[in-house]
Amino acid sequence: MEKKKYERPMLKRIVPTMPGKTGQNVAVVAQTEIDGVGLDCLRSRFGSPLFVFSERTLRKNMREAVRAFSTRYPEVRFAWSYKTNYLNTICRIFHEEGAMAEVVSGFEYDKALANGVPSNLIIFNGPAKSEQDLLRAIEGDSLIHIDNTEELRILTNLSIEKNIKPRVALRVNMDVGIYPPWNRFGFNLESGQAWDALEKIASEGKLNCVGLHCHIGTFIQTADAYRIEAEKLALLAKDSMEKLGLPISYVDMGGGFASKNTLKSSYLTGEDLCPTFDDYAETITSVFRTMKFPDGKRLRIVLETGRALVDNAGFLLTSVITNKRMADGRLNTVIDAGVNLLFTSFWYNHKVTATYESTSQVEPTMLCGPLCMNIDVIRDNVMLPPLKRNDLLLIHNVGAYNVTQWMQFITMRPKVVMVKENGEVILLRDAECLNDVNGVEDRCTVN
Ligand SMILES: *Cc1c(COP(=O)(O)O)cnc(C)c1O
Repeated sequence: MEKKKYERPMLKRIVPTMPGKTGQNVAVVAQTEIDGVGLDCLRSRFGSPLFVFSERTLRKNMREAVRAFSTRYPEVRFAWSYKTNYLNTICRIFHEEGAMAEVVSGFEYDKALANGVPSNLIIFNGPAKSEQDLLRAIEGDSLIHIDNTEELRILTNLSIEKNIKPRVALRVNMDVGIYPPWNRFGFNLESGQAWDALEKIASEGKLNCVGLHCHIGTFIQTADAYRIEAEKLALLAKDSMEKLGLPISYVDMGGGFASKNTLKSSYLTGEDLCPTFDDYAETITSVFRTMKFPDGKRLRIVLETGRALVDNAGFLLTSVITNKRMADGRLNTVIDAGVNLLFTSFWYNHKVTATYESTSQVEPTMLCGPLCMNIDVIRDNVMLPPLKRNDLLLIHNVGAYNVTQWMQFITMRPKVVMVKENGEVILLRDAECLNDVNGVEDRCTVN
């Protein structure tokens, strides 16, 4: 029998708080591997901290989402939201599973092209498209989702100048019962802005308006918001076709499906609260199944789901640096991954688990990163078993928005690996080195 791991004895102050409805959440179930690959082994090969992605989970999520929608409605297409995670290997996995690309900048547009996405399968969103990028998108027959009147004017001018009729969709924002509403992007529905823009497009006849788009927000924990969105968009599509004669062929429902993370303000865990793909799919498709469009036409549903497809496929492996006692007696455990790598720790109470079996002894722990900043707190209060220097911890559900929003600050960005379906582990992105950071300065002549 293998020798059990030594655990230091622990003196615990009893904090007399009331247990919640679900009891006191103390269970710490260790996770020792990802898809059969030992976490200790990952650290010895690639170092710590380390982002780890599971190819199996990525593909499983995508297939699950596609199944939920396509078994209920025949015309469904997913577009991978690049800003959620634009590691090329991950984008290409989603493209292999049938996703188009959804980009919000010229840089992301280039990435999608380099990943082999044909330009006519790129949806170009975003509130700040340059004229140059718009021209490229027009020439590539991409689907341009118009955000504002200035953009509408530029597109119309380019269309006249180049004598090409660009394929566009109007981005619309609306009240779906989620407050504060996301009304910064696109044209407002209730105030009549959206209809005015559609009338202008129809009367000028310079743009091929093939779609309508709305992205109601992110981490939407109620499927019913999508029912309201679908009803309003479907009605707008019907009116655009009937009254303005616009050739609408798709309705893009945006992204925003919640992942299984737990919001900081939440009492119940994300795993208990979040709707499934089936819940979202049933709500959305039932609107389009019952709605009648001119000439019996059926609209395609496009989904730009980001975080719900990738969050639980990403993990952050991190090592303990030291334990400290704070003046008030609380335990402060310092790890080698800070908030500069884990932006989402400002929003979520990320699940953190031990990587080896321990006794049931746990202590409320403040989990801090290695930065010289008071805000560098990964979890302000999490139950963890006794830890010592070099012990490994696993942070869960970090696949969305972290490896795009991370920054080099005090420490550099670490390696990212993927456990492939065949069990092989591959390096997706190397750790940054001093040359990467200094290189952009060294290129300047003044230095
Ligand atoms: C960010 C974004 C998405 C993806 O949102 P998630 O909440 O990650 O699903 C989709 N569409 C647009 C326009 C976006 O800006």
